[in-house]
Amino acid sequence: MKITVIGSGYVGLVTGACLADTGNHVLCIDYDAGKIERLKNGEIPIHEPGLDAVCARGLAAGRLRFSTDYAEAVAHAAVVFIAVGTPSDEDGSADLSHVLEAARELGRRMNRDTLVVVKSTVPVGTSDKVRAAAEEELRKRGVPHRVSVASNPEFLKEGVAVEDFMRPDRIVVGVDPADTTSRETLRELYAPFNRNHDRVLFMDVRSSEFTKYASNCMLAVRISFMNELANLADRVGVDIEQVRRGVGADPRIGPQFLYAGAGFGGSCFPKDLRALIHTSEESGEPAEMMRAAQNVNTRQRRLLADKVVQHFGGRLQGRTIALWGLAFKANTDDVREASSLAIIDVLLQAGAQVRAYDPEATANAERALHGRAGVSFVPSAPAALEGADALVVVTEWLEFRSPDFEVLARALKAKVLFDGRNLYDPAAVRKAGLAYYGIGRSGVGA
Ligand code: NAD
Repeated sequence: MKITVIGSGYVGLVTGACLADTGNHVLCIDYDAGKIERLKNGEIPIHEPGLDAVCARGLAAGRLRFSTDYAEAVAHAAVVFIAVGTPSDEDGSADLSHVLEAARELGRRMNRDTLVVVKSTVPVGTSDKVRAAAEEELRKRGVPHRVSVASNPEFLKEGVAVEDFMRPDRIVVGVDPADTTSRETLRELYAPFNRNHDRVLFMDVRSSEFTKYASNCMLAVRISFMNELANLADRVGVDIEQVRRGVGADPRIGPQFLYAGAGFGGSCFPKDLRALIHTSEESGEPAEMMRAAQNVNTRQRRLLADKVVQHFGGRLQGRTIALWGLAFKANTDDVREASSLAIIDVLLQAGAQVRAYDPEATANAERALHGRAGVSFVPSAPAALEGADALVVVTEWLEFRSPDFEVLARALKAKVLFDGRNLYDPAAVRKAGLAYYGIGRSGVGA
């Protein structure tokens, strides 16, 4: 099948590359000319494990191409995915300007009936707006082509995006029940990813749009709830890690997404929570659970830094804090709304100098912090420790999992470790002569 993908970011690029890998001819477009130039040269602009190999195969086979040209994109295929960003608007709602601009660009050039598949995360009713935007342009041109719109939200996780796309646990497709052509087109397109049992969940368009928000918000609520329990565990001398195992063993609850930590970030949970809260409040109902999850997370994102400030008696002047991990989670270079940024902000405001290291996300973090004074970015984990008083671990990268605590104890002047992901055994850390702070772990030794 011939496919066009508009937007070549985390989602569009993975979608395009994986669809090319299963034999489709895919043209990915983006209005970021620099990004497209790099992609044409076989350079992957994001860190996503395995994506380079999939892209290289597609490029070599001539099935994956890149362009900035909408005319070429429209001419290429009658099935067009929209995978552009939907960031938060000032009022928390999803900013649909990129999605609707893509739809208008299509309408300005469409030369045949086209199926538009909305992969971006968009509020209920957006697919209707996409159709209306494209149709308005068609009307201006006086051409009769039909626009069908399907909703196909993406559930991939950054860091394992290729694996998630290739082996999805579900493929949600929202189509008008009468639109059997679009339904069969998408069934055919996804057939290679749907071989062992049927994972395609067809539903109406609005329910499909809602499903994506419901999933992300449910996960966000779960994380915040666990973080709230962890903070309570801290106050009453309980080890949240033991509690996690006990709670997660209940099959009605399950072990996944039960980790207490430094709060959630990334390009999806915070903004999707804001958008669904906005939808809820606009519809006349307060979004009480989601608001609570959001408030807990706002506190949680700075909690680790607050613990540092408290440990040093409220002032960090003259202190240097080593920070391991800038990405919002391991195996990605994405720092959008990362907890590291909130932590750095609190540390700097308290007067500290920060020496930060991340295996992949340094360049993005430097951009996000706009050259803020007081932070230096170093090329290795040991380099971050040089002259540092304390170590704060924010991201669960594999290379941070088993440090030599004796070495840390020698390197850190104030001999204290703040573990924002509960990666370490507090007893082992303390045995090396370091003070240990985790999230909800005050009940482990003392
Ligand atoms: P991104 O910012 O990485 O990529 C979006 C790309 O679209 C950018 O390269 C941008 O230049 C391009 N773009 C924007 N407007 C355009 C236009 N009119 N024409 C052509 N190109 C345009 O975003 P992302 O993380 O890939 O997210 C895309 C969508 O997918 C969002 O709605 C997001 O919520 C959703 N989503 C993201 C993830 C994730 O893990 N990142 C997972 C599931 C769903």
